[in-house]
Amino acid sequence: NLAEKLEGVFKRLKGRGRLDEENIKEALKEIRMALLEADVNFKVVKDFIEEVRSRAVGQEVLESITPGQQIVKIVHDRLVELLGGTSSQLRFGSRFPAPIMLVGLQGCGKTTTAVKLAKVLAKGGKRAGLVSADVYRPAAMEQLRVMAQKIGAPAFNADSSQDPVKICVQAVEEAKRNGYEVLILDTAGRLAIDTQMMEELKQIKNAVNPSEILFVADAMTGQDAVNVAAKFNELLGIDGVIMTKMDGDARGGAALSLKAVMGKPIKYVGIGEKIDALEVFHPERMASRILGMGDILSLVEKAQTVVDEKQARELEQRIRKNEFTLEDFKTQLLQIKKMGSLQDIIGMIPGLNKLKSLKQATPDEKELVRIVAIIDSMTKKERLNYQLIDGQRRKRIALGSGTTVQDVNRLLKNYADVKKMMKRMTSKGGIKALRRGNF
Ligand code: GDP
Ligand code: MG
Repeated sequence: NLAEKLEGVFKRLKGRGRLDEENIKEALKEIRMALLEADVNFKVVKDFIEEVRSRAVGQEVLESITPGQQIVKIVHDRLVELLGGTSSQLRFGSRFPAPIMLVGLQGCGKTTTAVKLAKVLAKGGKRAGLVSADVYRPAAMEQLRVMAQKIGAPAFNADSSQDPVKICVQAVEEAKRNGYEVLILDTAGRLAIDTQMMEELKQIKNAVNPSEILFVADAMTGQDAVNVAAKFNELLGIDGVIMTKMDGDARGGAALSLKAVMGKPIKYVGIGEKIDALEVFHPERMASRILGMGDILSLVEKAQTVVDEKQARELEQRIRKNEFTLEDFKTQLLQIKKMGSLQDIIGMIPGLNKLKSLKQATPDEKELVRIVAIIDSMTKKERLNYQLIDGQRRKRIALGSGTTVQDVNRLLKNYADVKKMMKRMTSKGGIKALRRGNF
């Protein structure tokens, strides 16, 4: 936790004097590392540190708070500023419908976000229609229609042999006839930016003149998301960003860099696969999250009450030796479940929040049952060494546990991620926290 680290750095200075170059050096180093760890763009970090330095140096150390708290405040304020200060609203203009165009690479979450957004707008009393201009990906239009239907949002019917620009223009017409206030345009993505895609997006832009062009950025792709966004902005011009899959990346580095590099506001964040998992972006909250990154200590406090001490010590030994097996993984999942609000707990551990299946285990009893079944269907050898588990074995395990190979794959991937994270924690002194309570 950056905030706590800074507290420690400044304990010595308590209550007197000024913050100066010398005594903030260490703190700035901590901040720098934390930001880089959070996957913030290198250049952004550099500027950030300079800014904090110049604000901090010369400040009177206040009586009431510690110098550490004072620096934390400066850092926090600067983070909030960098993230855009306040939440940024969508602009609709005065036309009916107001076209809102979503753009981005394939798989970043455009279609999902389009439907989520329609739902958010509907809640706010704006009827939003949906249209898919993705004529390339098989079933892309169908995907949008099916999801739209679930929330009762109107989706424009087109067939994929039509020209995407025409589809959009016709959808605008239809939305107008039906009196929709907003029309959300879901566009096609590619695996990488290409000229043809950009050309098509430009044509759509020219044809419908959107009130907003929103770049949909996949938070999991970190710095790549920033680069791609910058490219879209350069070639097409964007008005803002929707950051998806924030549930998988608590570090927030991409969010921070995006705003700093492009100067375009993040308007919404996607925080899950479900249709209501879209939130207005709050810079304040994000800043706190970055500052309190990986709040392992409070996690530990929470965990302490549930976990058996002896078991915890044994586990620590195994993690230390990198012997965290699938069997241990299962035990941990079952324990975590006992702690109640898994959501809170996961949010506190960097890396762990990436684990979809862990996350789903909170509300979803079934997922946990499935995981346990899968692990139980493995041989002892497999549980000790997951790398043994090849395609053939995966099939057998799926069959034995009444799940699919995809389920098995996902579980193994999650397990591998946890293992990696555990290793990282032990090599970075996290083990001390682990020992205190273990999770
Ligand atoms: P598109 O190719 O840009 O249209 O992307 P899709 O909307 O089809 O989404 C790709 C995948 O990302 C799907 O599996 C979605 O469920 C998932 N997804 C989208 N948004 C989020 C999010 O905020 N959180 C998570 N965890 N998954 C998301
Ligand atoms: Mg799509």
